[in-house]
Amino acid sequence: MLPINNDIIFNTIDNGIIILDEELNILAWNRWLELKTHIKKDDIINKNICEQFPYIKKDKLKRKIKSALVTANPSFYSVDPHKFLIKIQSNSIVDKVYKFMRQDITLVAYDLEKKYVCLYIYDNTKFYETSAKLEELNEELQELSNRDPLTHSYNRRYFSDVSQKMLNLASRANHSLSVIILDIDNFKTINDNYGHSVGDNVIITLARSLEEYVRTSDVISRFGGEEFVILLYNVSLNNGKKIAEKIRKNIENLKIETKQGDVEFTLSLGVAQYDKEQDYNNLEHTITRADKALYLAKSGGKNQVIISE
Ligand code: GH3
Ligand code: MG
Ligand code: MG
Repeated sequence: MLPINNDIIFNTIDNGIIILDEELNILAWNRWLELKTHIKKDDIINKNICEQFPYIKKDKLKRKIKSALVTANPSFYSVDPHKFLIKIQSNSIVDKVYKFMRQDITLVAYDLEKKYVCLYIYDNTKFYETSAKLEELNEELQELSNRDPLTHSYNRRYFSDVSQKMLNLASRANHSLSVIILDIDNFKTINDNYGHSVGDNVIITLARSLEEYVRTSDVISRFGGEEFVILLYNVSLNNGKKIAEKIRKNIENLKIETKQGDVEFTLSLGVAQYDKEQDYNNLEHTITRADKALYLAKSGGKNQVIISE
């Protein structure tokens, strides 16, 4: 068998190796650690690891060493919450997520008689960074899939998920829940007279202006073309009507500047409050009632709010 030069392996391997005695004195410190920590082995050998690095949990490390010496099997040493045993500045320059190198640590018995153990330190920063970025990306994707691409208001699917949850919450807390459904009057004329992109701009402006009248506990959703539904948490029919009226007035007074001149438009709105007796634990029924009120607002001359009693 080829004679193995342990020193070469010890000092060229791409992870940290520390040998400790039972009292936590450092007996070996490899080249990788010298390079990463800028601490030379001659300056650290025979020193106590917990005195050199006071953030290491002494009792936990002692316990782990004891059990490694009993079982003689390699064991994973968890270094939560910092995710490092030895604090080393992270060296990634681009897209740095973590300030310090994230490490995985394995502990193995080195000499059972003398009670020495060996600690392997692996740099897992890249892995943790990739996971963190993937998680971020997933959250962004989730958020995108909940929103309508034109206005970035919530889409109908998200609305239906969240509205059922809000209904459950409101029922338990005995809170009221109201719905406003609104639609731009004569929108086809705007598209015909000014073009589709001005029409798009009108829809976006409407979406932004609705946000001024609701709180973060409410949900605005674009249901279709130029039709929006607003779910108002802990708002009675009477207050829902007041909010709808404010929205209507604000839009009536709004002018959108375009190259072909100012565009003005109006809204028709229907309001309904969730009612256990009429809606059978289903907000779709409340929306249908609000939609019928909207239809009455349209047939009654548009630019008005009608409530469903
Ligand atoms: P009413 O007062 O009865 O609501 O009349 P209206 O002309 O507004 O009629 P309706 O609500 O049926 O018109 C919807 C129009 O909206 C038809 C469609 O071409 C247009 N539309 C739907 N989605 C979009 C969109 O994303 N952008 C633009 N510019 N137009 C859209
Ligand atoms: Mg319309
Ligand atoms: Mg419509």
